[in-house]
Amino acid sequence: MEGAAALLRWYVEQGVDESIGEEPIDRFAEPPPAAEAPAAAPTRAPTPLRTPASAPPPPRAPVPLESPQLVEDARALAERCNTLAELEAAVRGFEGCALKRTAKTTVFADGKSGAPVMIVGEAPGADEDRLGKPFVGVSGQLMDRMMAAIGLSRDGGFYITNILFWRPPGNRTPTLAEQGMCLAFTRRHIELARPKVLVLAGGTAVKAVLETAEGITKLRGRWTTYRLGDGTEVPTMPTFHPAYLLRTPASKRQSWQDLLAIDKKLKELS
Ligand code: URA
Repeated sequence: MEGAAALLRWYVEQGVDESIGEEPIDRFAEPPPAAEAPAAAPTRAPTPLRTPASAPPPPRAPVPLESPQLVEDARALAERCNTLAELEAAVRGFEGCALKRTAKTTVFADGKSGAPVMIVGEAPGADEDRLGKPFVGVSGQLMDRMMAAIGLSRDGGFYITNILFWRPPGNRTPTLAEQGMCLAFTRRHIELARPKVLVLAGGTAVKAVLETAEGITKLRGRWTTYRLGDGTEVPTMPTFHPAYLLRTPASKRQSWQDLLAIDKKLKELS
């Protein structure tokens, strides 16, 4: 009993926080040897050869999921999308990102397209993966309350997404290739949503979208611009991630300043 509890604790520490099947699967196990054809009995007529139609398909070459080519594929695919609906279909159909293999759902976006504010966060967590919508867990509820404080809701006030469309298993840090693939779609997402104001929630989103090595503590609260393909400059506010605010409530004061700055900017722009 003690041993089982210790094993469970170890799993949780390693990031294994849910069971996705009843039976364990040993993914390192050798594949079973191909069944050998039974030797033909000397007295029987030889077994006819199988026709090509019934032959098993040749084994597929494994897709190298870290290949930089996949980032290029994602970019080319995203570029061909001219509407948010096309982009959503392209993301849902994209098989190049390893994260999709372990996630339950694709988490694209929530809120109304055409909303004045677009928020980009990091990655779906367990709640988002289960429900297929971004920011629906505790940190998402805090995000909703924060936006409501300046009169914005998902019902037309803000549109929300993440740089990753699939939950990394156990919330592990995504690889650079996984980030690159998703980011190719996210950049097109921003182009097509054309918000008046872009809000980047948390250091990961800020670093990826703005291609900067600066930390969130330094960048938050300072307006910067995100340039769209046609040269339009979108005022962009880096701000703390709500998950960080839940752990560090004293920082909510700074986030309130960011919210007031966003509210002011929207009033200036309208
Ligand atoms: N954190 C994020 O960055 N995004 C979500 O959707 C949920 C939690």
